[in-house]
Amino acid sequence: MMNINTEKEYDVVVESPGRINLIGEHVDYSGGYVLPAAIDKKITLSFTKNNTDCCTVFSENFRSQFKIKLSDLTRSEIEWHNYIIGVVFHINVLKPNKIKGFDCTIHSNLPLGSGVSSSAALECGVAKGLNELFEIGLTDIEIISLSKDAEHTFVGTKCGIMDQFAVVKGKKNNLLLLNCETLKHRLIPADFGDYNIVLLNTNVSHNLATSEYNVRRDECNTALEAINTKYPKYTQLAQVNPNVIKEFKKILPEKTFNRALYVTKENRRTLYAVKCLENKDIKGFGEWLYKSHRGLTSLFEVSCGELDFLVDYTHNLNYVVGARMMGGGFGGCTINLVHKDFCKQFINIISPAYQERFNISLTPILVTIDNGVSKV
Ligand code: ADP
Ligand code: MG
Repeated sequence: MMNINTEKEYDVVVESPGRINLIGEHVDYSGGYVLPAAIDKKITLSFTKNNTDCCTVFSENFRSQFKIKLSDLTRSEIEWHNYIIGVVFHINVLKPNKIKGFDCTIHSNLPLGSGVSSSAALECGVAKGLNELFEIGLTDIEIISLSKDAEHTFVGTKCGIMDQFAVVKGKKNNLLLLNCETLKHRLIPADFGDYNIVLLNTNVSHNLATSEYNVRRDECNTALEAINTKYPKYTQLAQVNPNVIKEFKKILPEKTFNRALYVTKENRRTLYAVKCLENKDIKGFGEWLYKSHRGLTSLFEVSCGELDFLVDYTHNLNYVVGARMMGGGFGGCTINLVHKDFCKQFINIISPAYQERFNISLTPILVTIDNGVSKV
């Protein structure tokens, strides 16, 4: 096993945050509006040049390491290796021969597979660290885009661009209103008044997560193709007006129709929610979160019993103004807007209720909004 050095001995250390998303779920790959932010829970990656033709990567979370030759970057049988190998591979595509041998140690206080995008934090952290270590000159957009490509080609999740964008472009105390088609974004002050963000980790990750994610993406493409036969002007599903979708009720299979309706409605919800936030209407903002959750449950069908239980539970608590599942779904976290004076009380009553119902312990995570990936 590789020695874990003290920080001083490393050439480059990078901190790469997880992300939350307030609203605009499952719309990034349909070119919609999303409202993510980077958080104060991070992966720390420490890099050293090793003057060989290999890279050695050690993850403290998995208590394991792997070694790979730079001339032989192929997929691994072990999933977590692929996020890293994929990034190295795609940097080589863009900027050949810049990466030389290196050692990397990873440690993280981000929960894995819980919808706070430890995957994008890992990819972008590796890309940023190597960019600094070997002075490669990659731009932020290149880091975002190649990290996404790594996840597509080496891991096999056909993710959108939101997670990587938020991890790289996050700004302390701000949300990013991102148009996933143009990649233009606007900073929205994360001013929730008396309310704090509390994540509740269900600690379940149903194994549908990856396969169903790709199915949803295909369903959205199918819907857009059908709409394009009548309306060729739309290049992205999220651009379509929900009323136009309704014209296809009898034409599209029911599930495909529901997916399309969800995407177009959710896209609008993001913009309505931002208006509420800018008008300091936190209650109104929270209502959009609840509506988003209902869409994710009934039309997009990516929720699960554990997530629904947690969101439903908050309906009777007047100090919670909004809640919904967050991330890909089928487990992971809910995001809740909770009055600052009641966060403890909230956790103290919902944790035993969840434990009693599912016999699983709930992990609350209090998050604040922080900067994107950066060199320490
Ligand atoms: P999420 O992105 O919501 O956390 P994913 O399933 O997309 O969930 O990504 C989780 C995967 O990312 C893990 O199963 C693992 O393969 C990889 N990963 C995340 N953090 C680490 C880490 N600290 N060390 C090694 N691999 C990690
Ligand atoms: Mg992920």
